[in-house]
Amino acid sequence: MYPTLRDTLEQTADKYPDKDALIYPRRDQRWTYAEFDAKANQLANALAEMGIEKGDRVSTMLHNGTEIVLTVFACAKLGAVFNPLNYRLPAGEIEYILNDAGSSALIFEEGTREAVAGAREALETVEQYLYIDEDGPEWTQGFYERLSSSAAERPDTVVEEDDIYAFIYTSGTTGRPKGVVHEHRDMVEHNLICIGEGGIRRDDVGLSAFPLYHCAELQAALFPRIHVGATSVIHHDFDPVRALQAIDEHDVTLFFAAPTGWNALVQAAEEVEADLSSLRLGLYGAAPMPQEVLDGCMAVFDAGYLQAYGMTEIGPCGTFQYPEDQVDKRGSAGLPALNHDLRIVEPDGDPTDEVEQGEIGEILFAGPCTMREYWNRPDATEASLREADGREWYYTGDLGYLDEDGYLYVVDRKDDMIITGGENVYPTDVEDVLYAHDDVVEAAVVGEPHEEWGEQVVAYVVGDVSQAELDQYLKESTQLADFKRPRTYNFVDELPKNPSGKVQKFKLRSDGAEA
Ligand code: ATP
Ligand code: MG
Repeated sequence: MYPTLRDTLEQTADKYPDKDALIYPRRDQRWTYAEFDAKANQLANALAEMGIEKGDRVSTMLHNGTEIVLTVFACAKLGAVFNPLNYRLPAGEIEYILNDAGSSALIFEEGTREAVAGAREALETVEQYLYIDEDGPEWTQGFYERLSSSAAERPDTVVEEDDIYAFIYTSGTTGRPKGVVHEHRDMVEHNLICIGEGGIRRDDVGLSAFPLYHCAELQAALFPRIHVGATSVIHHDFDPVRALQAIDEHDVTLFFAAPTGWNALVQAAEEVEADLSSLRLGLYGAAPMPQEVLDGCMAVFDAGYLQAYGMTEIGPCGTFQYPEDQVDKRGSAGLPALNHDLRIVEPDGDPTDEVEQGEIGEILFAGPCTMREYWNRPDATEASLREADGREWYYTGDLGYLDEDGYLYVVDRKDDMIITGGENVYPTDVEDVLYAHDDVVEAAVVGEPHEEWGEQVVAYVVGDVSQAELDQYLKESTQLADFKRPRTYNFVDELPKNPSGKVQKFKLRSDGAEA
C-alpha cells in the first residue's frame, strides 16, 4: 500500500521525535515532532468522540496557527476530509461551501466568529462547532478543552492511498468556488515533487506567513517540510515587518509568498534592521510576478528564487522556474514539474490537438497529483479532465505558449480573452499598459458583446484620470496595437475581487457569465 499524508507525519515523528516541528510565537508554542504527532492524535481522538468518522467533512475558518495544522493531520489520521475555508469569506459564501461540502464540523476562532455566527442558521449539516479562543458562543465547544481531555495514542483507523484527504475550494476568480477532491496519494506524490524541486532538507526552517487555507502554502510549503522533518515557524497572518524579524530570529531558510507579499517585504526591508542572510530559497507563485518586484527581491535577499505555476486542481505545482533561470527566462513560468507532462493545445481542443511551438493555446497537465473530481460538479469535472495517450489531462483554462527550449509562458485566462473583429486581445497586455499610467490605481479589461466586431474591448479603471487622457495616452503608447485600445471606459471606485485579491472579471462582464 502506498503511504498516506498520515504516514508522512508519523514516519517523521518516529525518526526525529526531538526535532523542532512547529514554532508558533503567537501562543508561545514550540513543539517537537513527537509532541506535534501526539497532539494531532489527541485532536483525532477528540473528533472521533464527537462522532466524526472516516469520510466526514471537517471545515475550518481559521487564520494560520498550530490549530489548522493539527486539524489537517487529525483528519488524515481518521480518514476524515479536511475542508479549509478562506478566513475572509462572508456568511453567504460560508453557507454555500459548507452546504455544498456537506460538512459535519466547523472549527473557528474569534477572528471569524461574526461571519460564522451569521451563517449558522443556514448551515444544513454542521453539528459540531469547535472554538479555539476564550469565551466562545454557547453553541460551541472549546477546542483546547477537547484536545487536552483526549488520549494521545494514534487512532487505529485504516487510511488508504485513495481515500479522500481534502476538499479544497478554488479561489472563485472565474465563478463560484469549486470543491477540488484530492486523495491522500496526491499529497504524498506532490510532497516528493516539491522536496525534489526545491531541494527541501531536514535542516531547513520555513516561515508560513501566507494563508494555510490555500493550497500553495499548505501543500507546496508546509507539507513537504513535515515530510522531511524540517522546522516550520507559523505566523497568524502576514505582516512584512514581523516576517523579516522572524527570518533573522529563526534563521529561516525557506519562505513562500504571492507577488504582492514579496512586494510588501521589499518595501519593509528598507525600514527594518534584520539579518536576512539565512534565506536560501524564496518561493513565489499563485499569480503573475511583476518584473520590478522580482528585481527588488533580488536586491534585498541574497537567495535563489523558485517560481511555481499551477492551480488547486493539480496539487498545485505544475511547473517550476529555477533560480538559474530567473534572469535568462524572465517572464516564463519554467519547465514541467517532476513527473508532469505539459501540452499546449487548441483551446477546448482534444489533448492531441497540439499547437505549433511558439503559438498560444490552452495549457494542459498530466501529472500524478491531479484531483479526482470537482465535488458535486460532474459537468465541470467532465469539461476539465480528458483521457488521451494513456494519461489523464487536466484543462487549466489558462492560455500560454512554449519557447524553443520548452519553457512555459502563461499569457492569460482563456475565458478572459477577447476576440474583436477577428483579432485576439489578451486583457493582461492592455492592463499592463494602463497600470503604467501614473494616475491609474487599478485596471481590468474585459470583452463585451458588440454587433459589428463580435466583442469590444472595455476597461474598468480606478483612478483620478479621464477617458480623454487615457485615450490619448494609449494612442501615443508604442506598446499597444490600435485594435487593442479600449473603446469604452468605466470609472469605478473599486474592482470586484475574490477574498484572495484576484479580480473577478465575470462580475464586470455585462452578461455576468461565469466560466
Ligand atoms: P477559480 O478556479 O475558482 O476561478 P483560481 O483559478 O484563481 O479560482 P487557484 O487554483 O487558487 O484558483 O489559482 C490558480 C490560477 O492562478 C491559475 O489557473 C493561474 O491563472 C494563476 N496562477 C497560479 N500561479 C501562477 C503563476 N506562477 N503565474 C501566473 N499565474 C499563476
Ligand atoms: Mg481555477
